[in-house]
Amino acid sequence: MYSSLIDPLRGIGRESVSAAVSSKFVEESVKLVYGSDSVVVKDGRVAGVQALSGTGACRLFAEFQRHFHPDSCIYLPDPTWSKYDLLLIISLQFLLKFIVQCLNLFFNYIDEIQLYSSRSHHNIWKDAQVPDRTFHYYDPDSKGLNFSALIDDVKNAPDGSFFLLHPCAHNPTGVDPTEEQWREISYQFKVKNHFPFFDMAYQGFASGDLDKDARAIRIFLKDDHLVGCAQSFAKNMGLYGHRVGCLSILCADSNQVGSIRSQLQRIARAMYSSPPVHGVLLVSTILSDPYLKSLWIEEVKTMANRIRGMRTTLQDSLERLDSPLNWEHITNQVGMFCFSGLTPDQVDRLAREFHIYMTHDGRISMAGVTTGNVSYLANAIHETTR
Ligand code: PLP
Repeated sequence: MYSSLIDPLRGIGRESVSAAVSSKFVEESVKLVYGSDSVVVKDGRVAGVQALSGTGACRLFAEFQRHFHPDSCIYLPDPTWSKYDLLLIISLQFLLKFIVQCLNLFFNYIDEIQLYSSRSHHNIWKDAQVPDRTFHYYDPDSKGLNFSALIDDVKNAPDGSFFLLHPCAHNPTGVDPTEEQWREISYQFKVKNHFPFFDMAYQGFASGDLDKDARAIRIFLKDDHLVGCAQSFAKNMGLYGHRVGCLSILCADSNQVGSIRSQLQRIARAMYSSPPVHGVLLVSTILSDPYLKSLWIEEVKTMANRIRGMRTTLQDSLERLDSPLNWEHITNQVGMFCFSGLTPDQVDRLAREFHIYMTHDGRISMAGVTTGNVSYLANAIHETTR
């Protein structure tokens, strides 16, 4: 059994993924999202296709949206996932001072130039020619959810709008709505006939429990919404380089499924023909074997608990250092990221003086915090913020 995990392609042609393997992968993946006992899965109402990880699933959906709803736009949370692929922050202070002196202009200094940054969700929909808008999400004062502003935006958007929602472990803020708040969001979506598109890149990271992390989607299902979902196995199966993902769309009835799936496949074929084979076989082998699946579920839980433990230790360490600031948000937030509240200047200082690196918006990847470096991190944060 284990040799098939080490080389799941043994005995299978590497030329392409057979339709059977791909559909087994989709069959198992959608159970994670909608629930293994879910009526919509049993009734065959989910059109799913293998996608190029979470990014590819979002992109495929964006193309689909443009094809079939050409006048629509996408509402994205503010802030949302942004990827600083090539964030070149170059300190040009001395050079610019020199130029400024030469030109005799009235500048004191310019610290840094951001040569290139990409805001991923925004770029994905922009590249698919779908206009993007934002809705309120994060409140910097409370370092929590700006729920009333979010609901206002949902109410004020034109009927039938497309909204992207992070069902768990919101990137970059680590702030998720409560169950009660999800119910209210779902209710208001129903009133407005909005379409929820869930981007699930971190299932298991918020609570350690795959079903609990899919709770938001299940609430929408109970309210009879049609939904879309981009699923990534990059983080929760550690398969980043294999680009394993699934795009699913819940259809009104099983008759629609074939049409929607074939349209998604047609769009994918024009963009990249077919997705890679190796990772998808790993995932479908694990998900379709009860023993292997239970091992994976345990590992996800262990990993999520470790991150939670690091949050507590980081907060405790800062409090023990008598930091004058409130760090409760470190443990209130969930998932892989801590939206620390550090300013760009403080982030720069952490990099320059302590060689601690995070995105410029102050987002710390908690997966990189360990028992070995957490007190160094706390000391450095304390030093930069007091
Ligand atoms: N969606 C969100 C919210 C993410 O944070 C990420 C990755 O960072 C993705 C999608 C993309 O995931 P993948 O690496 O599977 O393409």
